[in-house]
Amino acid sequence: MPPIITISINTRGDYDFIDITAKVSRHLVNTAFQEGLATVFIAGSTAGLILIEYEPGLVQDLKRAFQRIAPVEAYYEHNAKWGDGNGHSHVSASISGQSVAIPFSSGKLLLGTWQQIVLVDFDNRPRQRQVYVKFIQG
Ligand code: ZN
Repeated sequence: MPPIITISINTRGDYDFIDITAKVSRHLVNTAFQEGLATVFIAGSTAGLILIEYEPGLVQDLKRAFQRIAPVEAYYEHNAKWGDGNGHSHVSASISGQSVAIPFSSGKLLLGTWQQIVLVDFDNRPRQRQVYVKFIQG
């Protein structure tokens, strides 16, 4: 059983959308597994992992949607308590979720043609993020 794989990614924060599909796929190829499930998880409460069509129009649409749900300038109890100004980041990250599970077959992720694994950093500053990947054969 291969260990949990760690992928480190530097982000710029402020709704930074980063396609990590190729990185995850490369690690799957290295395992030589044929059938199973890929679990992908990001550590942190101000970043998300989502499955979307990674194209600039949709990235803008999603950024605006998150800003409508959790506007930067709104009042947040989190900011009042901690003063870190990223209450909106926590709310958006909570909604987007921090993990995805993707089946694979014949050694390939069974993603749709227009479906990528995308890290979104909602925080209000650059971060180094750790994404953990576990391939389960079966
Ligand atoms: Zn915070």
